[in-house]
Amino acid sequence: MKLLRFLLDAIFPISCLSCKTNGTYLCAACIKQIPRETGILYSSNSIPSFSMTKKSPRPYGGGFCGIIPTVSYKNTVAQKAIHLLKYSRIRALAKPLGELLGERVTQFIRANPKNWLIVPVPLHARKLRSRGFNQNDLLAEAAFAGSNISIAIKKQNPLKRIRDTKSQTELNGTKRLLNVKNSFAVTNIGAIQGRSIILIDDVATTGATILSAGNALIDGGASEVWEAVVARD
Ligand SMILES: [Zn+2]
Repeated sequence: MKLLRFLLDAIFPISCLSCKTNGTYLCAACIKQIPRETGILYSSNSIPSFSMTKKSPRPYGGGFCGIIPTVSYKNTVAQKAIHLLKYSRIRALAKPLGELLGERVTQFIRANPKNWLIVPVPLHARKLRSRGFNQNDLLAEAAFAGSNISIAIKKQNPLKRIRDTKSQTELNGTKRLLNVKNSFAVTNIGAIQGRSIILIDDVATTGATILSAGNALIDGGASEVWEAVVARD
């Protein structure tokens, strides 16, 4: 494998997707330049609308909470990196993107200390087979490497995607919400009961995923559900 990697690197040298510096898909200097999001997007708690407001419509406390964005999807470097990770299957990009997400979520956890459970948003089995990996697992692993925060990845994931939905990028707002409605089921109630959960996802657009996955988790007994994303659309 090492020889193959060496040959591939010689034929197709790796370079930063933004500044073209050799040796990395996304260099530290370019990551540093991506503007960080600071606010939280709160849910109005009503389905199927997710009000992407920066002001909480109600006092904090349990249930359906909000989206914690790291950067904006309008940032072309972030957008390109996420695209290459998911659609060109450049797994190496999960590390810098995951670390970026990790900084943000760690800040959030420090400000809200409790026994959090991190749950990467699962892919449907069919999509997982065709992509070969769940980018959200890779992002979560990179985000919390070396920390003592509980992560439920792969077989430990208490959530299952039961509907193979169309790619969200092809659909508009209302269709996206309908597309993921009832898409998730909880497969391990014991793992989530009374837990404070942070879902991990690559991109949030309408809030459709947190509504659907969050509902399944709250119905299953989770006490609160947030979603942390690399980029918000
Ligand atoms: Zn660069």
